[in-house]
Amino acid sequence: MEKAKVYFTDFRTHAEHPLTEKLQRLIRAAGIGQIDMNGKFVAIKMHFGELGNLAYLRPNYAKAVADVVKENGGRPFLTDCNTLYPGSRKNALEHLDCANINGFNTITTGCQIIIGDGLRGMDEATVPVPNGEYCKEAYIGQAIMDADIFISLTHFKGHEMTGFGGTIKNIGMGCGSRAGKMHQHNQGKPHVEQELCRACRRCAKECGSDAISYESGKAWIDQTLCKGCGRCIGACAFDAIHNDNANANDILGCKMAEYTAAVVTGRPCFHISLITDVSPNCDCHGENDAPILPDLGMLCSFDPVALDQACVDLCQAAEPMPNSQLSDNLARAGAEHHHDHFKDSNPNVSWKETLEHAEKLGIGSREYELVTLR
Ligand code: SF4
Ligand code: SF4
Repeated sequence: MEKAKVYFTDFRTHAEHPLTEKLQRLIRAAGIGQIDMNGKFVAIKMHFGELGNLAYLRPNYAKAVADVVKENGGRPFLTDCNTLYPGSRKNALEHLDCANINGFNTITTGCQIIIGDGLRGMDEATVPVPNGEYCKEAYIGQAIMDADIFISLTHFKGHEMTGFGGTIKNIGMGCGSRAGKMHQHNQGKPHVEQELCRACRRCAKECGSDAISYESGKAWIDQTLCKGCGRCIGACAFDAIHNDNANANDILGCKMAEYTAAVVTGRPCFHISLITDVSPNCDCHGENDAPILPDLGMLCSFDPVALDQACVDLCQAAEPMPNSQLSDNLARAGAEHHHDHFKDSNPNVSWKETLEHAEKLGIGSREYELVTLR
């Protein structure tokens, strides 16, 4: 496969030249204007940050991208899908409240926010996975699939399961409906934590498969009847229903790549990734530990695989930040050094398989040319 171009600029700037302007210059230079956006719906997929987290991308960056979309005649909206786990973004109302509290609204971003998989995480499109090995079809938030054009705007940081949270994570996992997220994490069957269940029976009313019963007084899910829709997880006000993360991390990464293929295939796409506030864990955490790496820059590409690879390569070449999870782990007596900042920060992760599988699926190339903009 031919080398993809990845455009890069650092976070240096001069008086009266905001970084948002620099980001706009970068994405214009990379050719975002080549996409015919005239009158078209443009989904900008990002992460609004869990409540308590401060590492997520500021809304100012979203506005910078949305403004470029508008100047090209497009009709942008910001989007993300509901989470699988209990937290502040598990249904559309809480998700929108969380986005608003974290500063995302029509004034700050210049566009609307649509939660891709609807009120309860059930509004999904079933999308074929081209060349899928682990997933023949993917369950993606309907509003995301309804868009004519797809743009990912990613906060590149560490991740406790997938090594780093980059473009493929933002797209593959982030665009999955609740069922889509379950599908990627395991075989998609949740269970009830008996000690948390208050026997309110709400979950059984939501289950269209008669999979939930109360023989012991508390809810219990018959795994043979459960279809893995995830509706009960959103129904439980007591966070008693959970989905196990049963997949090995390498398989999780491959499934994320397959979900990414489902989202990006067949329509114009563009991808942006900012290496800033590189927390050791995902923005889904209600906190962000000190950055493990310095703020390295802003990157973009038409190729999501090349973009992730370029971000990883920049990160691996950087010095660990002192007083961080990464430097603490490296300094620990007897610690094994993997010469991989993401593995040294979170030793149980594996991330290379994700990019290898994405390349095999044909959604991009790990070979790239870095074009630097000053
Ligand atoms: S909705 Fe939650 S608390 Fe109520 S019965 Fe179901 S699992 Fe138990
Ligand atoms: S995941 Fe869906 S099918 Fe399974 S128990 Fe929950 S609501 Fe019922």
